[in-house]
Amino acid sequence: MSCIDLHSHSTISDGSLTPADLVQYAALRGVKVLALTDHDDVAGLDAARTASQSAGVSLIAGVEISVTWRDRTLHILGLKIDPHYPELHRGLSTIRDGRVGRAVKIAEALAEAGINGSLEGAYGFVQENIISRTHFACFLVSQGHAGSMKNVFKKYLVKGRPGYVPHHWAELADAVRWIKGSGGCAVIAHPGRYGLGATTLHQLLEEFRALGGDALEVVSGSHTPEMVQRFARLAGEYGFLVSCGSDYHGPDRGYGDIGRIPSLPSGCAPVWHDWPEAVA
Ligand code: AMP
Ligand code: MN
Ligand code: MN
Ligand code: MN
Repeated sequence: MSCIDLHSHSTISDGSLTPADLVQYAALRGVKVLALTDHDDVAGLDAARTASQSAGVSLIAGVEISVTWRDRTLHILGLKIDPHYPELHRGLSTIRDGRVGRAVKIAEALAEAGINGSLEGAYGFVQENIISRTHFACFLVSQGHAGSMKNVFKKYLVKGRPGYVPHHWAELADAVRWIKGSGGCAVIAHPGRYGLGATTLHQLLEEFRALGGDALEVVSGSHTPEMVQRFARLAGEYGFLVSCGSDYHGPDRGYGDIGRIPSLPSGCAPVWHDWPEAVA
């Protein structure tokens, strides 16, 4: 079990715990080093840092940036970022603006499928600044359109389903530049979730490396043991550091459980190898 967890969400994006509650819960579960990595927003980091000081947790400032690469959505984690770096700040703000227009289109698409009121309904679940598919999922489940968070995505919110709308997020090169420019490490989040074939994956890893990307998230709440082994091997081959994170979203949101992720496979070079916060 790893006591380092470098991927988690709060109410600032689509998690269900406030930043302070998330940090306290992580501490309770034995996490010593925690990165808060909300989608496209850094607004929870101050509250998380304050909470971390009394909870005995080292807080890593993070973000999970939504990226469009060759018509696919990828998530790039920035770890140890400077949240005040102007270019990062502007970039995230533009992505958040894009989410507002996308939400309107999702609601229109759902209305065409006979489900009305989903824009207001989804906003009813938004607690801070970000509107995401998770909030539509909460609304749809609350209205009995699906039995669980997993099923609601499959039924309504993924490609080929009635509530899915294509969207253009940030460019990969921009996301990496914002992260690196702010002094952070750029990490491909949950690479096993994108369903990339070997050739496309190779091209992504080459491009990410050429852009200055640092690491792959090898251990993830959404990776199978086989994926962990595969991406550990690929990280070694391409010379990437390795990260681990639960992708915790709260007790009712699915994905990994905080403080319960496996340790890195032996032989990996951890992304935190030179971080003072992560030295025991
Ligand atoms: P968005 O960034 O608005 O497209 O929303 C993506 C979020 O939806 C992810 O970060 C997850 O939290 C959630 N999500 C996506 N797919 C699933 C799924 N199959 N089951 C549960 N949550 C999901
Ligand atoms: Mn999420
Ligand atoms: Mn993600
Ligand atoms: Mn995430």
